[in-house]
Amino acid sequence: MKTSRVAIFHGANQPITLETVAVPPLREGEILVRNEYTTLCRSDLNTFCGKRTEKIPTILGHEIVGVIEELGPNAPLKDCRGSALREGDRVTWAIYASDPHSTMAREGLPQKAPGLFKYGHEEILPESHLHGGLADYCILRRHTPIIGITAEIPLPALALINCSVATVAGALRLAGTLTGRDVLVTGAGMLGVIACAMCRSQGARHVIALDVSDARLETAKKFGANFVSNAAKECGLTVENIKLLAPDIHLSAALDFSGVPETMEMILSALGVGGVAVLVGATFPQRALSINAERLIRNIHTVRGLHNYNQQDFIAAAEFMARHHSDFPFARLVEDAFNLDSVNEAFHSGVNTGAYRIGIRLNER
Ligand SMILES: [Zn+2]
Repeated sequence: MKTSRVAIFHGANQPITLETVAVPPLREGEILVRNEYTTLCRSDLNTFCGKRTEKIPTILGHEIVGVIEELGPNAPLKDCRGSALREGDRVTWAIYASDPHSTMAREGLPQKAPGLFKYGHEEILPESHLHGGLADYCILRRHTPIIGITAEIPLPALALINCSVATVAGALRLAGTLTGRDVLVTGAGMLGVIACAMCRSQGARHVIALDVSDARLETAKKFGANFVSNAAKECGLTVENIKLLAPDIHLSAALDFSGVPETMEMILSALGVGGVAVLVGATFPQRALSINAERLIRNIHTVRGLHNYNQQDFIAAAEFMARHHSDFPFARLVEDAFNLDSVNEAFHSGVNTGAYRIGIRLNER
C-alpha cells in the first residue's frame, strides 16, 4: 500500500505535525500527483500565524508542482490546453476545482462557482485527504484545470504559477491591453514584482512601482519597473510625486497589491482619463474607501476588484513563465533550504523574514 507523509496544520500558533497516511484508491476522474515543490504563499503564512482562519485540520500549500503518479478511472487525458496527460508528466494545477458547467464558471468566474474546492484550504475528512502541497502526494479531483509543463523551468519559479503569477495575469486581463501604456504598481511584494515583469513583457511604456521598502523597490527594478518611489520617504504617495518621476506620464492603469486604503485612494486620484484601477491586495477587513464620484465620472474611470483567477489567467501565467522565466530572476525570490522535516522552521522563516517566498522541496531523489 502506498503511503504519504503529510504536514498537518492544527491551528494558529500550534506546531505543524508530520504524519504518515495511506494513499486512498483513486475515485472517478482523480489523478494522483507526487509533489515535487511547494512555495508558501502569503495566505499560508497568515493562516499559520492566525491573521486568517482556515478549516482545520488541513494541509496548507497551494503553489505546487508535481509529477503524475497515477491516472484514476476516467481521469482527464488532456490538460486545459489540450496536451496529453500521461503518468510521469510534470504538471501544475489551479488552486480551485469547480463545475465548469455552472453559471458562474461559464461567466468566467470558476473561482466563485458553487461547490468550489480549493487546494491547500480544505479540511481533512475521511472522504477528502491529500489536498495540499505540504505532503508527498496530492490527489487532483475532477474539474481541476491542469497544465502539463514541458519547458525547462526551475521548480521554484514553476511553483509560483498557480497562485501569484495567475492572479497577476488576472489583474492584467482586467486592466486591458498595456502595450505603450503607463502602469502604476502599488505594493512591491511578490505579486507586485511579478506584475512589473508581466507589464514590461506586455510592452508597457512606463512601469512605476511604489512601496515603503527600498529593498523591495530595488527588486522591482530587476523585474522591469523603470521608475520607483518610496512612499515612506516622501510623506505619503501623491500624484505630484508620480509626476516628478516622469512628467509626461499618463496613468492609464493602476494595479494595487498593497491593500492600503490611502494608497488605493491615491491611485484613484492619480489615474488619467479613461484609466482602469484593479484592486487585488485588500483581502482583509478594512475601512471603506473615499471615492469622489464626480472625478470618477468626468475621467471615465473603471475600478475593478479581483480575487483569485480563472482558467484563462492560469494558462496565461504558465505561458508567461515558459517565455520569460529567464528574463527575470524569479528563483532568487524563493528561499528554499526547507523540506517536510523542517516545515515548522520554514513557516517561522516566512513569517519572521522579508523573504518573498519560502520554498519546500518534496520527494527529492
Ligand atoms: Zn496563494
